[in-house]
Amino acid sequence: MTTVSPGLSPAELQKAARDHLWLHFTQMGGYLDSEVPIIVRGEGCYLEDANGKRYLDALAGLFAVQIGYSYGDEVGEAAAAQMRELPFYTNWSYAHPRAIELAAEVASLAPGDLNRVFFVSGGSEAIESAWKLARQYYSARGEHRTALARIPADPGAPHVRVDFDAEQAAKLTGERRWKAISRHVAYHGTTMGALSINGIPALRNPFEPLVPDVLHVRNTNRYHRPTKETEEQFTHFLLDDLEQTIEATGPETVAMVIMEPVQNAGGAFTPPEGYWRGVREICDRYEILLCADEVITAFGRVGAWFASERYDIRPDLITCAKGLSSAYASIGAVVATDRVMEPFLESSRMFTHGITFGGHPVQAAIALKNIEIMKREKIVERVAAEQGNVRDTLAQLLELPIVGDLRGTGFFYALELVKDKETRTTFTDEECERLLRGFLTPRMFEAGLICRADDRGDPVIQISPPLVAGQTEFDKIVGILGEVLTEAWERI
Ligand code: PLP
Repeated sequence: MTTVSPGLSPAELQKAARDHLWLHFTQMGGYLDSEVPIIVRGEGCYLEDANGKRYLDALAGLFAVQIGYSYGDEVGEAAAAQMRELPFYTNWSYAHPRAIELAAEVASLAPGDLNRVFFVSGGSEAIESAWKLARQYYSARGEHRTALARIPADPGAPHVRVDFDAEQAAKLTGERRWKAISRHVAYHGTTMGALSINGIPALRNPFEPLVPDVLHVRNTNRYHRPTKETEEQFTHFLLDDLEQTIEATGPETVAMVIMEPVQNAGGAFTPPEGYWRGVREICDRYEILLCADEVITAFGRVGAWFASERYDIRPDLITCAKGLSSAYASIGAVVATDRVMEPFLESSRMFTHGITFGGHPVQAAIALKNIEIMKREKIVERVAAEQGNVRDTLAQLLELPIVGDLRGTGFFYALELVKDKETRTTFTDEECERLLRGFLTPRMFEAGLICRADDRGDPVIQISPPLVAGQTEFDKIVGILGEVLTEAWERI
């Protein structure tokens, strides 16, 4: 019998997995009498399990493995060299060459004056850090000489811009802003702060009360809007909702608006024309920091190093993780503009936040090597050039009666599944459970495709392969999904 890890046979490995490993977001009871999927090897866009079966990874290991699975030797050498030189030191009060080089590299790839990089261990930590940074930014600025407040005599009046002296402003604002605004159905991670920002009730509910205060506004899902609504009207509708939410809660209490350039949960919601320009204007008007959560979209997924550049978002903060190292290391970052950094440069100030592993030298060396490979192989340029073909290939699936919509961009797509295409009627919760978890997920896996059937919003299939995927892989995705979705339709 072949062993797949030192000392353990496949059967022993299976038993140990069942007895000891606790999988994330997994109904573990489902594995009491069935096999835990154990992935043992990767190559290009493909994975192999402990039984020797091959899978096309159409999810890039959770939207992360930009360069695919074949660069382990090269990246491993960079990691080993760093291990020999300096296996660890922290960014807590100290710098070291790899963190400095990576910060400079990320700053050079990020648009505008997003020049300052704070390293963390992953996406959720990046979100936590961004919210804390936004909160502290306002108190670090010390005084709000131009504060926004209701005219005191008339609490019902709209907000107006009034110039106060520092003392008056401090009284009115308490020198604090703490609220965050994000969008319905958006996923931003699982730690308490990031979870609170999430717009997915099923993930939030078990852990309430959450961190105060987060308000959720409409996302850019256009599929269920009136069919006659123009793009311009849709943009106006969304921006109106954002502005009204800010006005209603009190702009002087809002620290940050946080949104993904293209929202993943719910199924690759791209922004309508003028949306980001409008969000930026509203944030400027109310002096709120705008954070682009690019945990998925950064590092090539939408055909640019940062989606903020592609959509001209001009955020004050960017959060990123996954693709920064192609997930070969657990490293993420918050990237801040010079303006956000400014109050923290005053001699006695600091961002009162840190984690031991932030900027870990081995993780930073891996991320640097990943970026070097992405540049050398022109991976971002390739996504930009190929995205039209990718859409055309996936669009074949729109012929299926169960596929209502194809949306997304770059190498980042979702298919929305519907019960009735004419009326765009979606499935009931019970049907979703039966269709997605009960049938599609195991059936795709059985057919050799790792893809996600997701019903955090309306039911979608998410397609986000490594950025080295070619026509062969997209044809294969269409072939397998074509078969599996036809079977699903017959079962409804
Ligand atoms: N933000 C977005 C947009 C994400 O998609 C994710 C994870 O998928 C996160 C944050 C959280 O990242 P992590 O799982 O690395 O904590």
